[in-house]
Amino acid sequence: CEIGPFRNDPAIDFTIEEAREAFPEAISRLRADMGRTLPLYIGGTEITTDDRIPSTNPANISEVVGEVCQAGVAEIDQAIAAAVQAQKEWGRRPAKERAEIILRAAEIAKERIFDLCAVQVLEVGKQWDQAHADVGEAIDFMEYYARDMLRLDQPRRMGRAPGEINHYMYQPKGVAAVIGPWNFPLAISAGMCSAAIVTGNAVLYKPSSLSSVVGYGLVDIFRDAGVPDGIFNYVPGRSSVMGDHLVTRPEVGVIAFTGSMEVGTHIIETAAKLQPGQDHVKRVIAEMGGKNAIIIDDDAELDEAVVHTLYAAFGFQGQKCSACSRVIVVDSIYDRFVERLVEGARSLKIGPAENPHYNMGPVVDKSQQKKIKEYVEIARKEGAILLEHAAAPELDTDNACFVPMTIVGGITPEHRIAQEEIFGPVLAVMRARDFDQAIEWANSTRYALTGGVFSRSPRHLEQARREFNVGNLYLNRNNVGALVERQAFGGFKLSGIGSKTGGPDYLIQYMDPKVVTENT
Ligand code: NAD
Repeated sequence: CEIGPFRNDPAIDFTIEEAREAFPEAISRLRADMGRTLPLYIGGTEITTDDRIPSTNPANISEVVGEVCQAGVAEIDQAIAAAVQAQKEWGRRPAKERAEIILRAAEIAKERIFDLCAVQVLEVGKQWDQAHADVGEAIDFMEYYARDMLRLDQPRRMGRAPGEINHYMYQPKGVAAVIGPWNFPLAISAGMCSAAIVTGNAVLYKPSSLSSVVGYGLVDIFRDAGVPDGIFNYVPGRSSVMGDHLVTRPEVGVIAFTGSMEVGTHIIETAAKLQPGQDHVKRVIAEMGGKNAIIIDDDAELDEAVVHTLYAAFGFQGQKCSACSRVIVVDSIYDRFVERLVEGARSLKIGPAENPHYNMGPVVDKSQQKKIKEYVEIARKEGAILLEHAAAPELDTDNACFVPMTIVGGITPEHRIAQEEIFGPVLAVMRARDFDQAIEWANSTRYALTGGVFSRSPRHLEQARREFNVGNLYLNRNNVGALVERQAFGGFKLSGIGSKTGGPDYLIQYMDPKVVTENT
């Protein structure tokens, strides 16, 4: 059948009653079947292991969402063997057939959207709208990459010399290791896996142990869509046990990683070393962290700037790679902006994500909670706490992973709070002398992922376009929620290496280019 143009999956509209009802219904369905053991999926077979990790609800860690079997070294070897075998046939299939299977996967995700959302609400504490946006992005990635593969599949005629024909084409790299983060638990994994699969590779997929139940959703989606056995292998595991083994296996040609800068640079280093039996150089795609800033210029529209900054800093508890963790305010507007920002934040409510009454939920686990609380203490020493807004005491128990929404003033670039990725709801406010200094401070970290500017000055907006050094810059809007195709996404410096996800250069990273010249 004809494949129409790409369109983003629409955002959910909660003014529609069915949309509002769908969430509690899906959460109840999930609870009725929760806590079961999830097997590995290797070569089309479900495999259970004795080593399991319980994945729990961060609003109530006694509630187990799933007991997830863990792959060790032996299971990785088994999955590699299955992948190598299956890829021989898959890589030769016409691209259109592979694209149609990925489009079917997108359709299946659409049909199951509320059930897929419910898992995120309970496993990682995503609010309803945030969970819906994540599943919508997973659908978008599959829809976009399937179409883009068809574009790349057209052999390109190169040159005009008489007597020869040159064709430029791509072939799959073979076996891909996909290593995902927990914060966009379906979208990012679905994007990396579908890109690898549609380009003709076989995948070993290792989700984060904090979101392995969400990750398991991809087993059902790809299997039901008709992805052949051995092409998609689900191998959650302890990174201390199998992480390096997965990265160094000689058969793995491409590693698609999204996560922290520390782990990403470790993988780049590990993958660079040639292993016995390895006959290629591994390609690593690494999307890493951020320390993103929004600049508030002296003529900014404050109604907009306050709302957008709050959303970018505290949406999903600040646990987005794109989240705003620094707001740099030009001196003459500082007091007016900061007063409204703090009052706005104070009006937000903190509680379990499954209840839409709350704007901010728990952070993902106890270890993140501890780390964020330590950063709040550092903030107290380095600056002046302007707001520390906690969940109600009856919710904030030892069983839950809440942290206070924190705003800290008096921060300058040399402070740790201005440099280190906290990955939680801690917002540093920085008072800049003028717009030039604001840009200089915005660029003063090792990261370059997203940024925002609120200004009515065409000259300053133009200056930001040229000088604000980030992969995704947003003018007069918040800096989160990039949409596939419209805001192809990714950073540089220590925010990552690789082409933008959801953009036209992404898929070629999973393939090798080849030119065939025929003398005629
Ligand atoms: P993380 O680096 O702790 O883990 C990411 C994945 O790597 C997990 O699956 C983890 O189990 C695995 N891992 C850890 N050590 C490994 C090893 N030695 N070998 C192989 N795999 C290993 O990151 P996280 O906490 O899951 O995610 C949050 C981070 O991800 C933040 O830094 C955030 O900014 C970043 N992130 C970046 C983007 C982007 O597009 N640039 C998007 C989302 C998240």
